[in-house]
Amino acid sequence: MFKKVIACLLVIFMLCSSSVSISAKEFHSRYNKGEMVYLTFDDGPNQYTPKLLDVLKRYDVKATFFILGKKIKGNEAILQRIVDEGHTIGLHSMTHDKKTFYRSPQTAVNEMKQVQQLIFDITGVKSTTIRVPYGSVPHMTKAHRQAMEKAGFDMWDWNVDTLDWKYKKNQKAMRYQTIKQVRAHRAYYQASIVLMHDHATSPESLSYMLRHLTREKFLFLTTDQAKEPYHFYNKWYGTSH
Ligand SMILES: [Zn+2]
Repeated sequence: MFKKVIACLLVIFMLCSSSVSISAKEFHSRYNKGEMVYLTFDDGPNQYTPKLLDVLKRYDVKATFFILGKKIKGNEAILQRIVDEGHTIGLHSMTHDKKTFYRSPQTAVNEMKQVQQLIFDITGVKSTTIRVPYGSVPHMTKAHRQAMEKAGFDMWDWNVDTLDWKYKKNQKAMRYQTIKQVRAHRAYYQASIVLMHDHATSPESLSYMLRHLTREKFLFLTTDQAKEPYHFYNKWYGTSH
């Protein structure tokens, strides 16, 4: 009996030590490799979101949607479709208003909690992944960041800005720049976190980009497949293999 207990303990010890022996670098590389692309869409749901979902379905690609609370009413079915089709839901505030949202750490947290609750009531999904309006720099003070962390939220920024809001009339330039940046990240063994919006021109651009990137064997992931959030204060390093 005693021997059996010892053997059991030994097996448990071996199992534990083998998982510990996976190096931090190796673990990191599971979600941060050059071929990994995290597509993220902000400011929906709206009338363009279903077209984005159609494109993603066509290429069998999953993405992350950062939901704006004030856009949910009337778009509940779209929100549900995002969930049903296996995409990840993130939170993007209620108002998107710089002054209102950032007034204090508590106002920022409260807005995220409100949109979190709205989404939960409709879909049953309780997301703790957030992207703050206009990104975390320069608006998120240390106190804001600490309050978000304390409330259990994981903040995400991006490292590829498509500038789709700026290039509305020049989609070609937007697509070209985006693909170029994603390829450049791959060359440096760095995953790409791509910022896009649910705009009228986005579905067509997304389709173009996926037509090219899927041919190049990129791997598309959602934010909940990463071990830690990527934001401007926590930039992932590239891996060397
Ligand atoms: Zn936004």
